[in-house]
Amino acid sequence: MPKKPAPRTDDAAQDGAAGSTGATKSAAQKALEKLGLKRDIDLALHLPLRYEDETRIVTLAEVREGQQAQIEAVVTHQEVTFRPRRQLIVTVDDGTDTCTLRFFSFYGSQQKALAVGNRIRVRGEVKGGFMGRTMLHPSFRAAGGSLPTALTPIYPTVAGLPQPYLRKAVLSGLARADLNDTFAPGDLEVLRHGVGHQPLWTLRDALQFLHHPTPDVSLDTLMDHSHPAWQRLKAEELLAQQISQLQSRRERAALRAPRLQGGVGQTLHARLLAALPFGLTNAQQRVGAEIAKDMARPIPMHRLLQGDVGAGKTVVAALAAAICMDAGWQCALMAPTEILAEQHFRKLLAWLEPLGITTAWLTGTQKTKERRAMLALIESGEAQLVVGTHAIIQDKVKFKSLALAIIDEQHRFGVAQRLALRKKMTAIEGEHEKGAEPHLLMMTATPIPRTLAMSYYADLDVSTLDELPPGRTPIVTKVVNDHRRDEVIERIRGQIAEGRQVYWVCPLIEESEALDLSDATQTHADLAEALQGATRADGQPVLIGLLHSRMHVDDKKAVMGAFTAGLMSVLVSTTVIEVGVDVPNASLMVIEHAERFGLSQLHQLRGRVGRGAAASACVLLYSTGDAPRLGEAARERLRAMAETNDGFEIARRDLEIRGPGEFLGARQSGEAMLRFADLAQDTDLLAWARAEAPMLLDRYPHLAHKHVARWLGGKAEFLKA
Ligand code: ADP
Ligand code: MG
Repeated sequence: MPKKPAPRTDDAAQDGAAGSTGATKSAAQKALEKLGLKRDIDLALHLPLRYEDETRIVTLAEVREGQQAQIEAVVTHQEVTFRPRRQLIVTVDDGTDTCTLRFFSFYGSQQKALAVGNRIRVRGEVKGGFMGRTMLHPSFRAAGGSLPTALTPIYPTVAGLPQPYLRKAVLSGLARADLNDTFAPGDLEVLRHGVGHQPLWTLRDALQFLHHPTPDVSLDTLMDHSHPAWQRLKAEELLAQQISQLQSRRERAALRAPRLQGGVGQTLHARLLAALPFGLTNAQQRVGAEIAKDMARPIPMHRLLQGDVGAGKTVVAALAAAICMDAGWQCALMAPTEILAEQHFRKLLAWLEPLGITTAWLTGTQKTKERRAMLALIESGEAQLVVGTHAIIQDKVKFKSLALAIIDEQHRFGVAQRLALRKKMTAIEGEHEKGAEPHLLMMTATPIPRTLAMSYYADLDVSTLDELPPGRTPIVTKVVNDHRRDEVIERIRGQIAEGRQVYWVCPLIEESEALDLSDATQTHADLAEALQGATRADGQPVLIGLLHSRMHVDDKKAVMGAFTAGLMSVLVSTTVIEVGVDVPNASLMVIEHAERFGLSQLHQLRGRVGRGAAASACVLLYSTGDAPRLGEAARERLRAMAETNDGFEIARRDLEIRGPGEFLGARQSGEAMLRFADLAQDTDLLAWARAEAPMLLDRYPHLAHKHVARWLGGKAEFLKA
């Protein structure tokens, strides 16, 4: 059993310099809620990020540079200087050495506390330097008083929520919360035998310990979460997540959906297949069959179709839509951007209109009149297929008989948007059975690594297009220093001469929209100048277009249309072209400031070329700015890009570089993120939780629900989308 140190009570006095900035209670309360800390148990489960050791006082002589230390010393000198800026400089001496304390912001009361002759206790990082030892903005208080017996926890926090306040809130939550174990050792093998030969602690002991560990503990095991107390928490968390996923899977199995069975003979499906200018790849046939099988069942499909960029997901979606329409129901396809939605619309229209299908088109920027007409088509059921952006999920949109919802680039949508689309079927009262939902097909070019599929997406069936259509030549990727820009421009000239097309992508600088705009605009102007005199083999004029997010949608469409039609040779753009754009004649992609892009994003961008038979290339231009070389992570990303074209390998490396939180993106994971468990590391615990969840839910449904509520609270709903 762990030793339980007494709770600390001296928090408020601690942070002389940094703390007590006078946050009002209500602001702090709001900040707590922002962190999701509403219930006592939420507070108890809010665990320290790291710890500071205030249990010991060291001498200045023994402190090493760069170390966090707590000393007791006498103030020997104090002054306020104004160069290079206003600062308070205090010298202290503990008998073994002296140290300079610097404060750039300070109050009169603090100056008084630091008066010459006062004996103070100071805590902070000790730096070396040519003026001798220094501490920047250390915490301090009057010397004397007892030392704490436990390490001081430092909690993750947000602006407006000072550590001392948060610490108090957490400790009182910890004292009040129900910390009894959900399951008894008899229920769970793991509680008797532990995981990896370490017996698990009780939840109570684990939490008490992690909120105030004894100073003799190995900090490493706390930081890397391998300590038995952490094991307990991770096991609990993963169990909650697995039970919750299982619950939603079972709830979904109890829902109804129309059976969409493929017909025989001259069905739309058969006619579309026959009309396609190409035959399906084996992979497309296989996933098509998986989807068809799901849709033929009377419970809603919940399937993710993953396939690398260019793998041909659209035609799979169109064939699924055809099955749905064959059965006499409506189908909706939602895409994250207007450009992408429009492209789908055109493609589907070209395929399906000759076969007698009426398609409606919905976006946020549509004229009122057109929009009204579309809404009428959808409501009457005349439009069998509806393509659009998130405008599709607005309240005003009423389907007559929606049975299949397809979401392209699903990771771009939030949980709430996916839920809204699923609700579209039940929107019409009396029309359908209660609890009916459309079949849901989600598509993504960002494949989900296996551990994530087992956890976040346990409630999802996955189909994978693991084969590209034939005749594609692999894209050659080159990482090039920005100094060699001229060579790149020569290369563009060559491509233009051959009648090929080129993308030039500039990064979106989020902090400054204006800067972003001028960046792409400037690059466009520079390129236009550099490419003067370039010629096309067919004698057409060389056009260089510009596309960025703040252009009017009509202008965007005009530019995109000219590029798609082959009238425009070079398209300079921000990342608006990232998803789904399909111009097979484009053979060169230049990405400027490639070091600023994420790995998945680079891969998506690169996927815009290599769509036809021509040999294609991707140039990753990087700039190190004032630094001598790129940072480690940026170099890793560019190296990965140069080394592989395989989206699955890219995703694996991306997960490695970024970790699942960032990988999934805040919107996708929402608040349902695993906080403690690490999917790459805790594979044993994950496998265990996955195996135990069904038994617990069957045998102890009440306890299982209690466990999920404790860990996920209101967030459990989010896991179901
Ligand atoms: P993504 O999976 O990235 O959405 P698309 O559906 O846009 O890919 O398909 C990329 C290109 O490949 C399109 O031009 C599409 O028409 C074409 N394509 C799809 N399937 C095949 C196939 N089986 N044979 C040849 N070309 C195909
Ligand atoms: Mg696509």
